[in-house]
Amino acid sequence: MNSRDVKQILKDTAYPHTAASPEEMKCLQYLQERCRKVGLETRVEAFSLERSNIRSASLTVDGKAYPCKAYIGCGSGKVEAPLYYLRSTDDLSLSLCRDHIVLTDQPLKMWTYQDMIKNGALGFITFTGRYSCPDRDIDQKTLRPATSLGKLLLGVNINVKDAMDIVAKGSKSACIEIDQESYEGKAHNLIGELPGEIDEWVVLTAHYDSTPLSCGSYDNMTGSIGILGVAERFVKAPHRRGLRFIWCGGEELGLLGSKAYCADHEGELEKVVLNINLDMIGSIMGKFIACCSAEERLVSFIEYTADELGFPVAARSGVYSSDSTPFADKGVPSLSFARLAPPTAGSIHERYDTPAIVSPQQVLTDIEFIAGFTGRMANAVRCPVKREIPEKIKDKLDVYLNRKRAPQPQD
Ligand SMILES: [Zn+2]
Repeated sequence: MNSRDVKQILKDTAYPHTAASPEEMKCLQYLQERCRKVGLETRVEAFSLERSNIRSASLTVDGKAYPCKAYIGCGSGKVEAPLYYLRSTDDLSLSLCRDHIVLTDQPLKMWTYQDMIKNGALGFITFTGRYSCPDRDIDQKTLRPATSLGKLLLGVNINVKDAMDIVAKGSKSACIEIDQESYEGKAHNLIGELPGEIDEWVVLTAHYDSTPLSCGSYDNMTGSIGILGVAERFVKAPHRRGLRFIWCGGEELGLLGSKAYCADHEGELEKVVLNINLDMIGSIMGKFIACCSAEERLVSFIEYTADELGFPVAARSGVYSSDSTPFADKGVPSLSFARLAPPTAGSIHERYDTPAIVSPQQVLTDIEFIAGFTGRMANAVRCPVKREIPEKIKDKLDVYLNRKRAPQPQD
């Protein structure tokens, strides 16, 4: 793979490709063809998710209509009520939600949503976008089943400029009306394997789906190219452990592809010694990080490898909001690599995530390190990382996966 190939793949996939859409399938088939070209045969595994056709959605605030998009999966109907802006999620603010349509910030967290319902909210409005950008794009959001837990409130998303207008005017009342029809959609994982000499595996993952407004070039075609580049290097090189590559679908809707994989292949996971996940690499600007959900030794191992190869990595342990997390939750030592662009020089989940913020040369440099690290893990006589997840990481997984509330910050 050279920088011309990287540039070409970024160009060929620079269109939104959300989970369960025809564009997602087009992107998957394109990646499958690219895998074939480097000598990796792949298979496709489907998983289900709820999608819907939104027939109409409207938001009126104090008699003025604002452009909006209904939340997929929030149901249909009409609600009219006084408006309340939930500025923070303390008990007093939450108690004032009662019998109101609540304007709240993105991202809509499960606990906030459940608290709004418990406190008697009747509907909700969120906003996305940036005041400093010229567009008035409205992101198409989904009320995830893991957030709603089956309790539905009518909800719409609007542009931040309109949200600011609504709050600045001290608006008093709102009306939301939605008509949508839900159906079972299918999203897909793409899986390829390079068996090793022993029946132990290193699994490399990268999600290839994008959000609705974004081409998903940086987030995460770069990671998808990353594991393709690693696969290319190991197709002919002998290695002790097997390497499995998974291009995950549905990450942007709550890590759905990696969760589906871990659920469908639970019995095989005991042979997986490590999951290496790539979510955003190769940005023009920014530093390379590693977030490890494993014993502390993995952080040290990455630091040693970084020194050895002359490639700076800011490594730490923790839980990362990407496809490494479902693996960690099943007891597989996991890590995510990313090159994090400063917010003003990078962009995700909006129209500004295009090939323009990615450096093909940097993608290749990042792949060089990732392949070097992967080779060391695949070829080690004994895997340098214990197959166990420390208690403090398990705690963080409980919080991330909404089984437990985050501890209140102590001042
Ligand atoms: Zn991502």
